[in-house]
Amino acid sequence: MHVEVKENFDVTNLTSFKIGGKVGKVYYPTSVDEFDEVIFSEKDVKVFGNLSNTLVSSDGYDGAIILTSNMDYLWLEENNHFFAAAGYKGPKLAQFAKAAGYSGFEFMIGFPGSLGGNICMNASAHGQCISDKVVSVTCYSKDRGVFELSKDEMEFGYRSSICQREDIFVIGAEFELEEKDADLIQKQMDENLAFRKAHQPSLAIPNCGSVFRNPENNSAGKLLDEIGAKDFSVGGAKVWENHANFIVNENKNASSLDVLELMYKMYSGVKEKYGIELKPEVKYLGNKNKREVELCRILNIK
Ligand SMILES: Cc1cc2nc3c(=O)[nH]c(=O)nc-3n(C[C@H](O)[C@H](O)[C@H](O)COP(=O)(O)OP(=O)(O)OC[C@H]3O[C@@H](n4cnc5c(N)ncnc54)[C@H](O)[C@@H]3O)c2cc1C
Repeated sequence: MHVEVKENFDVTNLTSFKIGGKVGKVYYPTSVDEFDEVIFSEKDVKVFGNLSNTLVSSDGYDGAIILTSNMDYLWLEENNHFFAAAGYKGPKLAQFAKAAGYSGFEFMIGFPGSLGGNICMNASAHGQCISDKVVSVTCYSKDRGVFELSKDEMEFGYRSSICQREDIFVIGAEFELEEKDADLIQKQMDENLAFRKAHQPSLAIPNCGSVFRNPENNSAGKLLDEIGAKDFSVGGAKVWENHANFIVNENKNASSLDVLELMYKMYSGVKEKYGIELKPEVKYLGNKNKREVELCRILNIK
């Protein structure tokens, strides 16, 4: 078997932040067998989807990663049950479900996550959440190989799942959706896109979505706004002028350290004024200098 691999590959342009560097090996398996082959040929492999929630070090990463983008198959099982593989992109999934007349994925229309990333992060928006529709997840771990986890066993929570706590990778998932008129689904998707256009930076302005999770019964964006974060910037990274929980890399010249320093400024401002410690939504991949190690520890970025 021959799994596609790119060596010393600069992933900057693959990230939605347009920040990154060279990664030692980037594997693109197309099947579970190829996935398995990579896991057993490398000592330590990390798995990513579309890198839309990941800050990649400007100094790159010396190790190996899998990108699931070539595992992008999907099928409609009996009745209203779908199976989609880890690399299938959320917006395509939303379009597929609409064309088949099924509701539940309208929220995925406006952000670029892969199915695996969406499951790992338990992505949500516009009152819908990916775990709401999950029946079971086909998982992979080095010890167990391929196995199924039920929705309960996935331990979904707000922006969390078991995949963030254990070395369990998503291969695909089965969903149960509800039948609905395709025009109504389209209407909902149009409303979702209009909301995003009004409140969030588009992908044309490099960003990675919300930077911090919302604290319980509170809004990270509101707290950040109240400390004046919309005026904050560090190097090429700045807080978006229309929503304080987004960091943008407008001129594509921000480094990973700029982003971490800016996150620290945002985090410290909220902690000082309200005593609330914001928790990051964004993940980190790659080498770290001494300051980046310190910032990731304080900010609790994994
Ligand atoms: C413009 C914009 C808008 C956004 N809006 C939203 C929003 O409304 N709601 C929301 O929830 N998110 C939003 N996001 C954030 C992001 O798209 C989601 O977190 C998405 O789920 C990440 O998917 P990904 O494939 O890009 O994950 P990656 O960035 O590739 O990975 C994120 C995490 O998931 C893990 N992971 C990825 N694939 C797998 C797998 N197969 N198995 C196990 N773990 C895996 C990675 O190891 C990493 O820890 C937005 C991002 C952008 C850029």
